[in-house]
Amino acid sequence: MHIQEYAALDRCNTLGLPTKARYLIQARCLEDVREALVFARTKQLPLIPLGGGSNVVFSGDLDAVVLRMAIAGKSVVSTLGEHTIVESGAGENWHDLVRWTLSQKAYGLENLSLIPGTVGAAPIQNIGAYGVELKDVFHSLQAVDCQTGGVVCFNRDDCGFDYRQSIFKGSCRDCYVIISLRLKLNRRLTPRLDYADLRDKVEKKALNRELSAELISDVVCDVRREKLPDPGMLANVGSFFKNPEVSASTVQQLKARYPDLVAFPAGERWKLAAGWLIDKAGLKGVREGAVGTHKQQALVLVNHGGATGQDVLCFSEAIKARVHARFGVLLEREPRVY
Ligand code: FAD
Ligand code: NAP
Repeated sequence: MHIQEYAALDRCNTLGLPTKARYLIQARCLEDVREALVFARTKQLPLIPLGGGSNVVFSGDLDAVVLRMAIAGKSVVSTLGEHTIVESGAGENWHDLVRWTLSQKAYGLENLSLIPGTVGAAPIQNIGAYGVELKDVFHSLQAVDCQTGGVVCFNRDDCGFDYRQSIFKGSCRDCYVIISLRLKLNRRLTPRLDYADLRDKVEKKALNRELSAELISDVVCDVRREKLPDPGMLANVGSFFKNPEVSASTVQQLKARYPDLVAFPAGERWKLAAGWLIDKAGLKGVREGAVGTHKQQALVLVNHGGATGQDVLCFSEAIKARVHARFGVLLEREPRVY
């Protein structure tokens, strides 16, 4: 096991924040994870699993053992009736997995194309985009219990999946290192085109080409590239806040004041578009020092270069305060802060 001391993580987080880890270890197999846990215990330091660093904010240096997940491998486990079960190591790149499943004629991940990060992080916040969430195709996962070092299997019901949430981000946070994921995909494509942006562009493209999962995936990639900043060019962690869920009466009151309010039914409650709230509060494309909101999607905070984690957090608190003052709605941060 190779251990780096005082390792720079600047390139290991997509916000490009300058951070050092007291220790950095790569996990290429189960034994690496177990050894890292023992090492962290010996040093009396917390262990922080890290994938692509696309959903974390480092507020300063980390007095911790950072475990960079690099367990590889993808395979088809079985094809039974309508379904294909695939398995992937936690260190695989998420988008590569999506494209690989399509090449296996296993469908269901196309709307989740181009989400940055690793496979192992996908269950943490039940990643979602364009009306599809990981939970829709989740079969099971394997994780190492950080207390015992034993391997535990979680089925869908065990994970407490919710909107951008799971037990791994909630009641069981810091308790497990996810090492592999199984997905139950479909052998027949059922397009999920509820999102107007996606539907319009897919319909246009399908005039010249047969509607396929690859086509949907391509369009999702195009739409995302048009609208969202590529972290390689402009550092960011995607949506900085979750879309808040509010009561029907709150929506009614807000609609009376703002007829163009963007709100969608979410069970018995309503989901407000956080990006719209920030935009309407006059904060789209603004900049304070090195930090700002993206000019095309106000929900994305960007590091123009040279920002620290504290700069980002201060800026995000100012946004929260402004939105709360204007709409009475409290925004909740999506990425995890360390
Ligand atoms: P990291 O940022 O490395 O880690 C995130 C959290 O998960 C940390 O708390 C970490 O400790 C924990 N973790 C990571 N790996 C493991 C593991 N193996 N075991 C246990 N814990 C682990 N998210 C969406 O849901 N939908 C989107 O459409 C979307 N679009 C994005 C677009 C952009 C441009 C960016 C920058 C981000 C976007 N995100 C989106 C957020 C992010 O990409 C996802 O949450 C992704 O799953 C994070 O993966 P990661 O490997 O980078 O996780
Ligand atoms: P968008 O399509 O402009 O939509 C704006 C918001 O309205 C989104 O937050 C979305 O909620 C909601 N919405 C739109 N149509 C909807 C429908 N038919 N039913 C229910 N809700 C609807 O959003 P965008 O910024 O370009 O992002 C596109 C997709 O990628 C979204 O699903 C978004 O969540 C995802 N994304 C996520 C991140 C992240 O870091 N978490 C970053 C970039 C993009 P939802 O967000 O609930 O889908």
